[in-house]
Amino acid sequence: MRKLVIATGNQHKLTEMKRLFKDVPFEIVGQNEIGEFAEVEETGTTFKENAEIKALGVSRFCDEYVLADDSGLVVDALGGEPGINSARYLGHDTSYTYKNQVIVDRLKGVTDRSARFVCAISLCKGNDVVYTVEETFEGEIIHESLGSEGFGYDPIFFYPPMNMTSAQMTMEQKNEVSHRGKAIRKIITYLLENVHED
Ligand code: IMP
Repeated sequence: MRKLVIATGNQHKLTEMKRLFKDVPFEIVGQNEIGEFAEVEETGTTFKENAEIKALGVSRFCDEYVLADDSGLVVDALGGEPGINSARYLGHDTSYTYKNQVIVDRLKGVTDRSARFVCAISLCKGNDVVYTVEETFEGEIIHESLGSEGFGYDPIFFYPPMNMTSAQMTMEQKNEVSHRGKAIRKIITYLLENVHED
């Protein structure tokens, strides 16, 4: 089976990818399973650029196809913050209880509550970007945290069509409509149509 390397040292992300690819004929392996790679600096100014930088940081040094993602929350009334800095916003180790409260507080009295999660995923081989997708999950910031599923900014992200926050959705419900679910499905379609055994 053809190998597909996930450019992440994050075990949680790798496990999630393996689950999403379980019916797809690719052997999913983490970057740590094929070698040691220096952490690349995410110097891009867009989600797409950062996904490409992360994937190329590994693909340049191996023979396999490599996949990397970059995602985050974009709040329109905050000029797009936290955006590509979502993980680092207010400090990498700061709790999401606090980060979410700060966002809710910054939006006090603001009527435009529109926000979206964005996910870019890039497929690279050698020095080349083969295919990059970007998908969004459109919603709004609510006035208080609700729900305990998911992670990160999910408790303050309200999705009107389902009348709940993404922290109130099951993983299956979220995957159907989320930025990440949609982007992964596009990548899988591309791989199945274009990437075959040697
Ligand atoms: P990355 O892993 O460096 O791309 O960082 C993504 C960051 O964006 C996460 O640490 C979260 O803060 C945020 N984020 C991305 N997707 C989601 C989501 O589905 N729910 C909640 N937070 C998310």
